[in-house]
Amino acid sequence: MAARRLDGSSWAARLREEVRPRVERFTARAGRPPGLAVVLAGTHPASEIYVRNKIATVTEHGCRGELFRLAETASLDDALALVRRLNADDRVDAILVQSPLPAGMGADAEQQVFDAVDPAKDVDGFHPTNVGLLVQKRPTLVACTPLGCAELLDREQIPLTGRHAVVIGRSDIVGKPMALLLLHRDATVTICHSRTRDLPQVCRSADVLVAAIGRPAFVTADFVKPGATVIDVGINRLTDPAEAARCLAPDSPKARQFAQKGSVLIGDVHPDAEAVAGAITPVPGGVGPLTIAMVLRNTVTAAERRAGAG
Ligand code: NAP
Repeated sequence: MAARRLDGSSWAARLREEVRPRVERFTARAGRPPGLAVVLAGTHPASEIYVRNKIATVTEHGCRGELFRLAETASLDDALALVRRLNADDRVDAILVQSPLPAGMGADAEQQVFDAVDPAKDVDGFHPTNVGLLVQKRPTLVACTPLGCAELLDREQIPLTGRHAVVIGRSDIVGKPMALLLLHRDATVTICHSRTRDLPQVCRSADVLVAAIGRPAFVTADFVKPGATVIDVGINRLTDPAEAARCLAPDSPKARQFAQKGSVLIGDVHPDAEAVAGAITPVPGGVGPLTIAMVLRNTVTAAERRAGAG
């Protein structure tokens, strides 16, 4: 039997609507809307789309969303100077620095720039202060993608207490905070990565499997325990016909889309896994919209907390 689809898009719409009255209350009290500043350095095509969606979502829900661009050739000092200016701007409640930064800024630029963001305005939850608070189960601003996944699991009432949750990926942005959010929901958590031995076997013992790898269709049906819940965080654009043939079922809607357009979006989970899982998030329409809803919610949370009303 095909897995139940966990509809991230419709949950995201509900989550966004829940924030609206908070925006109205804040705006009435503060005399200005909650403000999100997004920093985009360079011209990464996918980043342009993500940034546009984030700003459109916050503005559609009554917040102020402003884009601050830096050239591809901007230096790390330029980025740090902009972040400091936004930290000092009282109308800015939340700052989001879109990853990746241009390679020319240096290998540890992202870490330095994320560290420079005022923790009270750290809408992405990447600052060490906010990460530490999450570790101690005193979350304030939590990374938007894992937070969206946790909301989805909560709202879909997926049992977590005492269950085995396996997270593939140990990035600071997705894997690690995801593991902590699952741990705080009393799951028994295993974090896997590129050095994990017998990965399919470890994954097969998961009641809840989260794939955050960045490799198209990597998680095949043999990784999945029958009936497990699978959260597919990956977003990969396929353009290579040979890879498309490996990743897409012949004659499926995605295969037809690839044949027409020459590209298609696919997650880290192979479509074959749907026949084994009990519930699964689609790509697109799963984790992506939830991430954006959490950017909105974190913006409002930051504004309320800064105003002493959180
Ligand atoms: P990342 O920083 O590149 O981390 C990838 C992780 O996957 C690493 O921990 C890596 O292990 C692990 N990995 C790579 N190859 C592996 C293998 N063969 N076996 C087991 N583990 C392996 O990526 P990320 O930022 O966490 O993002 C992961 C995916 O989520 C990407 O597709 C990204 O586009 C997507 N994403 C989606 C959203 C959304 O809103 N839906 C948001 C953020 C990210 P090592 O640590 O050992 O290298």
